Amino acid sequence: MKITYPHLGSLSIAMHGLLEDLGLDVQAPPPITKRTINLGVRHSPEFACFPLKINMGNFIEALEAGADTIVMAGGTGPCRFGYYAQVQREILRDLGYNFEMIVLEPPQGQMSELVDKIKELCGDKSWPEVMRALHTAWRRIKAMDQLHALTLKVRPRELEKGSTTKAYKEALQPIASARSNAQIEEALRRGTKTVKAVPCDYEKDVLRIGLVGEIYMILEPYANLYIENVLGEMGVEVERSIYISHWIKEHLVLSSLGLKGSKQIKKAAAPYLNHFVGGHGWESVGDTVLYARKGFDGVVHILPFTCTPEIVAQSILPTVSREQGIPVISFSLDEQAGEAGFITRLEAFLDLLSQRRIKTKTM
Ligand code: SF4
Repeated sequence: MKITYPHLGSLSIAMHGLLEDLGLDVQAPPPITKRTINLGVRHSPEFACFPLKINMGNFIEALEAGADTIVMAGGTGPCRFGYYAQVQREILRDLGYNFEMIVLEPPQGQMSELVDKIKELCGDKSWPEVMRALHTAWRRIKAMDQLHALTLKVRPRELEKGSTTKAYKEALQPIASARSNAQIEEALRRGTKTVKAVPCDYEKDVLRIGLVGEIYMILEPYANLYIENVLGEMGVEVERSIYISHWIKEHLVLSSLGLKGSKQIKKAAAPYLNHFVGGHGWESVGDTVLYARKGFDGVVHILPFTCTPEIVAQSILPTVSREQGIPVISFSLDEQAGEAGFITRLEAFLDLLSQRRIKTKTM
């Protein structure tokens, strides 16, 4: 068995490490390129969500490279994610690929179902070995998220453009190759030092922007046109509303204990939206309210073209913006998105935020 997985930002690093720790032969999907997108678009339904198309491209490239088993997440709720894996499996079979697909469904109050599926994947591993591998993967994800959050603070203040991104890549590698919790802690300690050593102007007055939207678009830099790097290098401090470690804590740990997280976000969203609409639509509204309360200069909302939960959020955000006094811009992205138009709109938005800040200061 040669197993592969879809790309999803730095989660792919943790997934690769987990599968290797479980003793599996892993075939990483090649990095996302224009070819990946073209393959995914060519072989997906036209109105499928952009993340489905990118993952289709990942799977085709990984199967071409020798993978014969795909591990994919399942989903529930009023959005198309619930049948992504099935659609992808049928299309790939029609294309003539011979493979198995293992779908990891989110636990509906039962963490054991997910763990059983993982155990099934790696038959000869003992329970303690499986649990140890899962725990190491969790530590790795948390370390990567911690480092990522730090880069978002450092990048807008860097003296040399690109130096934070370079330091981050350097810092990430040892976390990816660490094989134990102690090694991960050490790699995180060193990585934090590397990123903090980037020469910066900490007196610089920077704009603060909250990033909200659909989880794949937030986490996968290729899909969001590297928005965090672009904004950071324009001198903007970005705060990401979603980290994969938060998602795991909420959807895998708390939900399996019958507890619900993100109460604060849902409470903040309540005057505008008070029920689940699928994906992260509810959170996009609530997080925008919270960013306004925390005094952020603006919010950037990112969604894949045709994403229903985020279209609901997008229709509500102008009211939130007006009533909460926070400028919001939405980017609906897919394979047609052009970088030039994207940058122009971002620059115009930043101009507006800067003018607004000057006006507020002189009032
Ligand atoms: S949240 Fe949006 S993009 Fe993601 S699967 Fe659902 S509809 Fe598609």
